[in-house]
Amino acid sequence: MAYQISDACISCGACAAECPVGAITEGDGKYVIDESACISCGSCAGVCPVGAPAEA
Ligand code: SF4
Ligand code: SF4
Repeated sequence: MAYQISDACISCGACAAECPVGAITEGDGKYVIDESACISCGSCAGVCPVGAPAEA
């Protein structure tokens, strides 16, 4: 299962910098994950200060 980013996201960008496959981009009001590219490594969840990324 791919990861998804919840509305708790504060758009800090930390997760995008950590994603090994470049699946995370800035969206409208929060960052978003391209689920077709995500390999579910969990790196984004590990660096997020508000716990927004989670496995869907
Ligand atoms: Fe990128 Fe890994 Fe997060 Fe998927 S789980 S969006 S591959 S950092
Ligand atoms: Fe949003 Fe967390 Fe990613 Fe920062 S690390 S952009 S708060 S999901």
